Amino acid sequence: MSLDAHYFDGHSSRRHPVRLTALDGALRIEGEDGAHTIPAADIRASEPQGSAPRTLRFAGNRAFCEIAQGRELDALLAALGQRDSIVVRLQGRWRWVFVSLGVVAMVLCAAYFWGLPWGAKVIAPHIPITAMRSISEQALAQLDNFLFYPGRLPPDRQQKLRDGFRALVVDDPELAAYGDRITLVFRSAPKIGPNAFALPGGQVVILDELVQMPGSNDEEILAVLAHELGHLACRHGIRQLIQSSALAAFSAAWFGDISAAVAGLSTMLLNSAYSRDMEREADGYAAATLRRQGKSPALLASALEKLEAFHSAKKRLRDEEGANDEAGKFLDWISSHPDTAERIQHLRAAP
Ligand SMILES: [Zn+2]
Repeated sequence: MSLDAHYFDGHSSRRHPVRLTALDGALRIEGEDGAHTIPAADIRASEPQGSAPRTLRFAGNRAFCEIAQGRELDALLAALGQRDSIVVRLQGRWRWVFVSLGVVAMVLCAAYFWGLPWGAKVIAPHIPITAMRSISEQALAQLDNFLFYPGRLPPDRQQKLRDGFRALVVDDPELAAYGDRITLVFRSAPKIGPNAFALPGGQVVILDELVQMPGSNDEEILAVLAHELGHLACRHGIRQLIQSSALAAFSAAWFGDISAAVAGLSTMLLNSAYSRDMEREADGYAAATLRRQGKSPALLASALEKLEAFHSAKKRLRDEEGANDEAGKFLDWISSHPDTAERIQHLRAAP
């Protein structure tokens, strides 16, 4: 084991290039002026300071050597039986503690941003719809209490939409797990405006305001409902619920207390908190459903355009009036669908 170093004689500042070798428990210093050997017991190594070179001093002698830090020096010192002091070793270890803490923090972040969504995706298909059904029913009851009114569309209008909706659902293997639990629920919510949403238990809520939106037609409304069915088929609501209230869902499963999960669900619906990927997945599902029915995915695109235009106008009006009403808090369709333009483009480009 040998390495290059600089030797200072302790009298002048001149440095002499030397070659250091560990030999039989002693240090052999070999330079242009010859070689000499120093017993390991007479050697004192300086403590490592950052990346500065370390010095080896020799007992009863003003001479010293300067050596660059690195594995070679560590090996040489080890061969000479030199050990770093406890402090130095602990300092080294502290560095590892910080590195480990950093790694743990990164793992936790990864678990939150990727692990949790992944886990939710894996678990979601195994959660029985019946369990989701009762949470959804309670969430709907809660929304009925403070936000929804009963739907007021004429019965024949409701029936026509129900028939169209039934045709979207029928024979769809991806919705088979829901059995006959997929129902169209009519409500009115002036504070929310035109919208529809799916509860993970299979209830698809359609607001009168969507049906009555100026310029809307049944084909486009059904395209929106197909998108909502996409959220059901892909179990987005369940996944979102698992993610946003993992602990609440856990306690619901174990302790039967589902109040936290119910609160989580109604909040989630009000904030329309599906991720961008989920919206795109539901769009893809709707596009496939529409194509299967011989219709164009562009129907959903134009529905989205009209929704966007309607809600933008409404938001402008609210802003102009400086209104600080409750409506602003609920389901701000514009802010919760920032990528609508991109979705519309994507749907129009679909074959
Ligand atoms: Zn959606």
